[in-house]
Amino acid sequence: MRIHASSGYTGDGSLFRTMPMGILRLSVKEAREVIANLPPAEGNGGLELNQGVSCALGNACFIADANPSACALLQIKDPASIAMAPIASVLSEDTLKHFTEGLYQLFRGQTAIAYDGSLTIAGGGEHQVAFNLWQAECNTTPNEVYLSFSSLRERISLEQAKDGLQSDLARSARISLLGEMTASIAHEVNQPLGTIVASAEAGLRWLFRDEPDIAEVKLLLERIAKNGKRAADVITTMRAMASNKKSERLPTDINSVIEEAVLLLRTDFAKRQVTLRLELSPILPLVKADKTQILQVIVNLALNAAQAMSDGQAWNRTLCIRTRQCATDIMVDVEDSGPGIDPHVRERLFDSFFSTKETGIGMGLAICRSVIEAHGSWIELQSTPHLGARFSFGLPAEQTHTNG
Ligand code: ADP
Repeated sequence: MRIHASSGYTGDGSLFRTMPMGILRLSVKEAREVIANLPPAEGNGGLELNQGVSCALGNACFIADANPSACALLQIKDPASIAMAPIASVLSEDTLKHFTEGLYQLFRGQTAIAYDGSLTIAGGGEHQVAFNLWQAECNTTPNEVYLSFSSLRERISLEQAKDGLQSDLARSARISLLGEMTASIAHEVNQPLGTIVASAEAGLRWLFRDEPDIAEVKLLLERIAKNGKRAADVITTMRAMASNKKSERLPTDINSVIEEAVLLLRTDFAKRQVTLRLELSPILPLVKADKTQILQVIVNLALNAAQAMSDGQAWNRTLCIRTRQCATDIMVDVEDSGPGIDPHVRERLFDSFFSTKETGIGMGLAICRSVIEAHGSWIELQSTPHLGARFSFGLPAEQTHTNG
């Protein structure tokens, strides 16, 4: 059979030939017969498209025509080589299933079906494409359908670039947060180091007395180990915040993430005369979360709250961080007694680059929201001007574990 320019919907065929997307015209007469001969399915009258049926349908639809873009995507030099080839020969197994489901819907009256899948390339390998399956003139040419496809490479690389940009932005925001916390972090590392040195010196004295006090030396060594671990924990958290490792959601104890955030901010709170109240529910299920990202959210919200209270000269500067369970979600509230949020500021609060601070970047809340939404949840604000602000977010609880 000679592959020829299509007629009908595609007019004189010139549109069919020149379209930048690949188009195959398919002859589906035999596929109709395959469906007509299948035993009727039980129940709702639909058809169960198992692998066998899918395969039979894929081998009963034949390529009657292929435009140059289709040949290029399929890497076929001679269009005649696929003349009357079954469609199953150019679709991967999963895609064939989507195709036959789509074809069945077309036969039942739907006009067009879209799905993503992959083409099997002539020389081997697969090509990711977006498919459209449609019937041009079902009254005059009921046994012809069109399958068009365009490469997903550009869409995939755009999506990858967008993901990369988002993750770079989140990382820059974390690094800028670390910059804001430098004094606090230096103190948190310096303090245990001071204790380590003092304990080591005292230990040496107890050891080299006329009668060494081994029990005292043991206590001092334990203090050294504990303080060494505390300094190392602060450094580990800093490194995690500065790194750009791939997002990983693991069962996480939300209370301990809050304690880590607080450890980083303790000195900052003291400097701003902020009193911290932790109301952490002792028995909570674990949450499935990316710990570093959630740490970033909590540090952002707590630092914003502390800054709002000290910049707004609030006389009562209390920051309360609370955890509670609400149905299947674990809720975290970050509540302050600062100036609250004006209604006109509130509208733009979560916008990227919105800041009322002289040196603010305005990415903190935008990132908090995108992190929480990526975890399948939401972040909300309650605020009365002059009476403080409360940011709350939820995280879905893990079904099986508890930390209590
Ligand atoms: P930045 O901290 O760089 O300004 P954010 O996105 O974290 O960026 O915050 C945006 C704005 O939201 C802040 O500039 C501030 O006006 C307001 N804001 C955030 N948290 C609070 C809060 N707890 N109380 C009052 N205003 C707040």
